[in-house]
Amino acid sequence: MKRSFAAFIFIISLSAAALAASGKQPAPPGSFQGAPPQYTRFSTAELMRGFLALTFGSDLRIGAVPHGIRRFDHPIRVAVIASGSVGRAAAMQRVLDEYAQKVPNLRLSIAAGTAPADIEVRLIDEKDFTSALRAAFGAKITKTFVARTDPQCMTSVKSSADGGIVRAVSFIIVDKGDDVFLDCAYHELLHAFGLSSHDQRNPWTSLNQKRMVGYLSVYDRALLTLLYDPRIQPGMTARQARARLPRLIQDLGLAAPAQGK
Ligand SMILES: [Zn+2]
Repeated sequence: MKRSFAAFIFIISLSAAALAASGKQPAPPGSFQGAPPQYTRFSTAELMRGFLALTFGSDLRIGAVPHGIRRFDHPIRVAVIASGSVGRAAAMQRVLDEYAQKVPNLRLSIAAGTAPADIEVRLIDEKDFTSALRAAFGAKITKTFVARTDPQCMTSVKSSADGGIVRAVSFIIVDKGDDVFLDCAYHELLHAFGLSSHDQRNPWTSLNQKRMVGYLSVYDRALLTLLYDPRIQPGMTARQARARLPRLIQDLGLAAPAQGK
Protein backbone atom coordinates (compact mmCIF):
# COMPACT_ATOMS: atom_id res chain seq x y z
CA MET A 1 0.00 0.00 0.00
CA LYS A 2 2.78 2.33 0.99
CA ARG A 3 4.61 1.55 -2.20
CA SER A 4 1.72 2.42 -4.50
CA PHE A 5 1.23 5.67 -2.61
CA ALA A 6 4.84 6.64 -3.34
CA ALA A 7 4.39 5.79 -6.99
CA PHE A 8 1.33 8.00 -7.10
CA ILE A 9 3.26 10.96 -5.67
CA PHE A 10 5.95 10.45 -8.27
CA ILE A 11 3.49 10.60 -11.13
CA ILE A 12 1.96 13.81 -9.79
CA SER A 13 5.33 15.53 -9.60
CA LEU A 14 6.20 14.38 -13.10
CA SER A 15 3.07 15.88 -14.58
CA ALA A 16 3.64 19.10 -12.61
CA ALA A 17 7.06 19.39 -14.21
CA ALA A 18 5.57 18.84 -17.64
CA LEU A 19 3.14 21.71 -17.02
CA ALA A 20 5.77 24.19 -15.88
CA ALA A 21 5.84 27.55 -17.63
CA SER A 22 8.74 28.00 -20.02
CA GLY A 23 10.27 30.37 -22.53
CA LYS A 24 11.91 32.60 -19.94
CA GLN A 25 12.81 36.09 -21.21
CA PRO A 26 14.23 39.23 -19.60
CA ALA A 27 11.84 42.07 -18.69
CA PRO A 28 10.94 44.05 -21.85
CA PRO A 29 12.59 47.40 -22.73
CA GLY A 30 11.17 50.31 -20.72
CA SER A 31 10.82 48.23 -17.55
CA PHE A 32 12.19 49.61 -14.29
CA GLN A 33 15.70 48.70 -13.19
CA GLY A 34 15.57 45.24 -11.64
CA ALA A 35 12.17 44.24 -13.07
CA PRO A 36 11.77 40.45 -13.00
CA PRO A 37 12.14 38.25 -16.10
CA GLN A 38 9.03 36.53 -17.37
CA TYR A 39 7.95 33.19 -18.72
CA THR A 40 6.29 33.41 -22.11
CA ARG A 41 4.80 29.96 -22.62
CA PHE A 42 2.09 28.50 -20.45
CA SER A 43 -0.04 25.41 -20.40
CA THR A 44 -3.83 25.50 -20.55
CA ALA A 45 -3.95 24.51 -16.87
CA GLU A 46 -1.64 27.37 -15.88
CA LEU A 47 -3.76 29.93 -17.74
CA MET A 48 -6.99 28.52 -16.32
CA ARG A 49 -5.62 28.65 -12.80
CA GLY A 50 -4.82 32.36 -13.10
CA PHE A 51 -8.05 33.24 -14.84
CA LEU A 52 -10.29 31.51 -12.29
CA ALA A 53 -8.35 32.88 -9.31
CA LEU A 54 -8.17 36.47 -10.53
CA THR A 55 -11.54 37.13 -12.17
CA PHE A 56 -13.60 36.09 -9.14
CA GLY A 57 -13.51 37.89 -5.79
CA SER A 58 -11.80 41.05 -4.53
CA ASP A 59 -10.17 42.48 -1.41
CA LEU A 60 -13.15 44.43 -0.15
CA ARG A 61 -16.77 44.07 -1.16
CA ILE A 62 -19.32 46.78 -0.58
CA GLY A 63 -22.97 46.04 -1.16
CA ALA A 64 -24.24 43.21 -3.28
CA VAL A 65 -21.45 42.16 -5.59
CA PRO A 66 -22.24 39.80 -8.46
CA HIS A 67 -20.55 36.43 -8.13
CA GLY A 68 -19.82 36.00 -11.79
CA ILE A 69 -17.34 37.44 -14.26
CA ARG A 70 -17.07 41.23 -14.20
CA ARG A 71 -15.90 43.19 -17.18
CA PHE A 72 -16.90 46.03 -19.46
CA ASP A 73 -19.34 45.05 -22.18
CA HIS A 74 -18.76 48.15 -24.32
CA PRO A 75 -15.75 50.15 -25.58
CA ILE A 76 -13.74 51.56 -22.65
CA ARG A 77 -12.88 55.25 -22.40
CA VAL A 78 -10.18 56.26 -19.95
CA ALA A 79 -9.44 59.66 -18.45
CA VAL A 80 -6.08 60.40 -16.79
CA ILE A 81 -6.23 63.03 -14.07
CA ALA A 82 -2.73 64.06 -13.06
CA SER A 83 -2.28 65.95 -9.81
CA GLY A 84 0.92 64.51 -8.35
CA SER A 85 4.26 66.32 -8.02
CA VAL A 86 6.02 64.11 -10.60
CA GLY A 87 4.92 64.33 -14.24
CA ARG A 88 3.79 60.83 -15.17
CA ALA A 89 0.88 61.58 -17.50
CA ALA A 90 2.87 60.75 -20.65
CA ALA A 91 4.15 57.53 -19.11
CA MET A 92 0.60 56.60 -18.09
CA GLN A 93 -0.51 57.28 -21.64
CA ARG A 94 2.13 54.83 -22.92
CA VAL A 95 0.85 52.16 -20.52
CA LEU A 96 -2.70 52.70 -21.78
CA ASP A 97 -1.55 52.62 -25.41
CA GLU A 98 0.15 49.32 -24.76
CA TYR A 99 -3.00 47.78 -23.29
CA ALA A 100 -5.06 49.15 -26.21
CA GLN A 101 -2.68 47.73 -28.77
CA LYS A 102 -1.99 44.34 -27.18
CA VAL A 103 -5.57 43.58 -26.13
CA PRO A 104 -7.67 44.99 -29.00
CA ASN A 105 -10.94 43.61 -27.60
CA LEU A 106 -10.71 46.14 -24.75
CA ARG A 107 -11.56 48.77 -27.39
CA LEU A 108 -9.67 51.19 -25.18
CA SER A 109 -9.41 54.89 -25.94
CA ILE A 110 -8.79 58.15 -24.15
CA ALA A 111 -12.00 59.96 -23.17
CA ALA A 112 -12.36 63.09 -25.25
CA GLY A 113 -13.87 66.37 -24.13
CA THR A 114 -16.31 66.31 -21.26
CA ALA A 115 -17.77 62.86 -21.90
CA PRO A 116 -17.65 60.87 -18.65
CA ALA A 117 -14.94 58.21 -18.63
CA ASP A 118 -15.45 54.54 -17.87
CA ILE A 119 -12.11 54.39 -16.06
CA GLU A 120 -10.63 57.32 -14.21
CA VAL A 121 -6.90 57.07 -13.52
CA ARG A 122 -5.82 59.48 -10.78
CA LEU A 123 -2.10 60.15 -10.53
CA ILE A 124 -1.31 61.35 -7.01
CA ASP A 125 1.48 61.73 -4.44
CA GLU A 126 1.71 59.19 -1.66
CA LYS A 127 0.92 61.75 1.04
CA ASP A 128 -2.44 62.43 -0.61
CA PHE A 129 -3.41 58.78 -0.96
CA THR A 130 -5.55 58.36 2.15
CA SER A 131 -7.29 61.70 1.73
CA ALA A 132 -8.02 60.89 -1.93
CA LEU A 133 -9.61 57.59 -0.88
CA ARG A 134 -11.57 59.37 1.82
CA ALA A 135 -12.90 61.91 -0.67
CA ALA A 136 -13.91 59.15 -3.07
CA PHE A 137 -15.33 56.53 -0.70
CA GLY A 138 -15.90 58.19 2.68
CA ALA A 139 -13.96 57.86 5.93
CA LYS A 140 -15.43 54.56 7.09
CA ILE A 141 -14.74 52.53 3.98
CA THR A 142 -11.28 54.06 3.65
CA LYS A 143 -10.40 53.12 7.23
CA THR A 144 -11.59 49.54 6.76
CA PHE A 145 -9.78 49.16 3.47
CA VAL A 146 -6.49 50.67 4.63
CA ALA A 147 -6.55 48.65 7.86
CA ARG A 148 -7.22 45.43 6.00
CA THR A 149 -4.88 45.68 3.06
CA ASP A 150 -2.32 48.45 3.70
CA PRO A 151 -2.57 49.43 0.04
CA GLN A 152 0.02 51.35 -1.93
CA CYS A 153 -2.30 52.02 -4.84
CA MET A 154 -5.91 50.98 -5.27
CA THR A 155 -8.77 50.56 -7.70
CA SER A 156 -12.46 50.68 -7.05
CA VAL A 157 -14.71 48.88 -9.51
CA LYS A 158 -18.43 49.42 -9.59
CA SER A 159 -20.40 46.78 -11.43
CA SER A 160 -24.06 46.09 -12.04
CA ALA A 161 -25.89 42.96 -10.91
CA ASP A 162 -25.40 41.34 -14.31
CA GLY A 163 -21.60 41.65 -14.10
CA GLY A 164 -21.06 44.59 -16.42
CA ILE A 165 -18.56 47.10 -15.01
CA VAL A 166 -20.16 50.52 -14.75
CA ARG A 167 -17.13 52.52 -13.71
CA ALA A 168 -13.66 52.10 -12.26
CA VAL A 169 -11.37 54.55 -10.49
CA SER A 170 -7.65 53.84 -10.02
CA PHE A 171 -5.35 55.74 -7.67
CA ILE A 172 -1.71 55.53 -8.71
CA ILE A 173 1.25 56.88 -6.72
CA VAL A 174 3.69 58.91 -8.82
CA ASP A 175 6.31 60.16 -6.37
CA LYS A 176 7.88 56.94 -5.07
CA GLY A 177 10.04 56.02 -8.04
CA ASP A 178 9.65 54.35 -11.42
CA ASP A 179 9.21 50.89 -9.92
CA VAL A 180 6.25 51.83 -7.72
CA PHE A 181 4.64 53.87 -10.48
CA LEU A 182 4.97 51.21 -13.18
CA ASP A 183 3.99 48.36 -10.90
CA CYS A 184 0.88 50.27 -9.79
CA ALA A 185 -0.02 51.45 -13.29
CA TYR A 186 -0.05 47.96 -14.84
CA HIS A 187 -1.48 46.26 -11.75
CA GLU A 188 -4.35 48.69 -11.11
CA LEU A 189 -5.46 48.71 -14.75
CA LEU A 190 -5.79 44.92 -14.63
CA HIS A 191 -8.19 45.42 -11.70
CA ALA A 192 -10.06 48.18 -13.54
CA PHE A 193 -10.58 45.88 -16.55
CA GLY A 194 -12.08 43.16 -14.34
CA LEU A 195 -9.23 41.02 -12.98
CA SER A 196 -10.35 42.05 -9.54
CA SER A 197 -8.54 39.65 -7.24
CA HIS A 198 -5.00 38.72 -6.18
CA ASP A 199 -3.13 35.44 -6.00
CA GLN A 200 0.00 35.53 -3.83
CA ARG A 201 0.97 32.02 -4.91
CA ASN A 202 0.84 32.62 -8.64
CA PRO A 203 4.42 33.28 -9.81
CA TRP A 204 3.50 34.75 -13.23
CA THR A 205 0.92 37.48 -12.66
CA SER A 206 1.35 41.13 -11.69
CA LEU A 207 -1.63 40.56 -9.38
CA ASN A 208 0.57 38.69 -6.92
CA GLN A 209 1.16 41.36 -4.27
CA LYS A 210 4.49 39.83 -3.32
CA ARG A 211 5.86 40.66 -6.77
CA MET A 212 6.70 43.96 -8.46
CA VAL A 213 6.44 43.54 -12.21
CA GLY A 214 5.82 46.91 -13.86
CA TYR A 215 5.09 45.71 -17.39
CA LEU A 216 2.32 43.89 -19.25
CA SER A 217 3.46 40.29 -18.99
CA VAL A 218 2.63 37.65 -21.56
CA TYR A 219 0.68 35.85 -18.83
CA ASP A 220 -1.52 38.80 -17.82
CA ARG A 221 -2.07 39.73 -21.43
CA ALA A 222 -3.37 36.20 -22.07
CA LEU A 223 -5.77 36.44 -19.10
CA LEU A 224 -7.15 39.77 -20.35
CA THR A 225 -7.47 38.41 -23.88
CA LEU A 226 -9.58 35.58 -22.49
CA LEU A 227 -11.67 37.90 -20.33
CA TYR A 228 -12.52 40.13 -23.29
CA ASP A 229 -13.22 37.38 -25.77
CA PRO A 230 -16.91 37.49 -26.78
CA ARG A 231 -17.30 33.89 -25.61
CA ILE A 232 -16.64 34.99 -22.00
CA GLN A 233 -19.62 37.03 -20.85
CA PRO A 234 -20.14 39.29 -17.81
CA GLY A 235 -22.05 37.38 -15.11
CA MET A 236 -20.71 33.99 -16.18
CA THR A 237 -20.06 31.70 -13.20
CA ALA A 238 -16.75 30.00 -12.45
CA ARG A 239 -18.26 26.69 -13.49
CA GLN A 240 -19.38 28.11 -16.84
CA ALA A 241 -16.00 29.74 -17.42
CA ARG A 242 -14.12 26.59 -16.50
CA ALA A 243 -16.12 24.62 -19.06
CA ARG A 244 -15.42 27.11 -21.81
CA LEU A 245 -11.78 28.00 -21.18
CA PRO A 246 -9.86 25.00 -22.58
CA ARG A 247 -11.41 25.37 -26.03
CA LEU A 248 -11.01 29.14 -25.94
CA ILE A 249 -7.35 28.94 -24.94
CA GLN A 250 -6.78 26.52 -27.78
CA ASP A 251 -8.68 28.60 -30.36
CA LEU A 252 -6.79 31.76 -29.40
CA GLY A 253 -3.46 29.93 -29.47
CA LEU A 254 -2.62 31.17 -25.98
CA ALA A 255 -1.14 27.94 -24.63
CA ALA A 256 2.00 26.41 -26.00
CA PRO A 257 3.38 23.02 -25.09
CA ALA A 258 6.03 23.39 -22.40
CA GLN A 259 9.54 22.72 -23.66
CA GLY A 260 11.15 21.76 -20.38
CA LYS A 261 13.48 24.72 -19.80
ZN1 LIG B 1 -4.24 44.91 -6.33
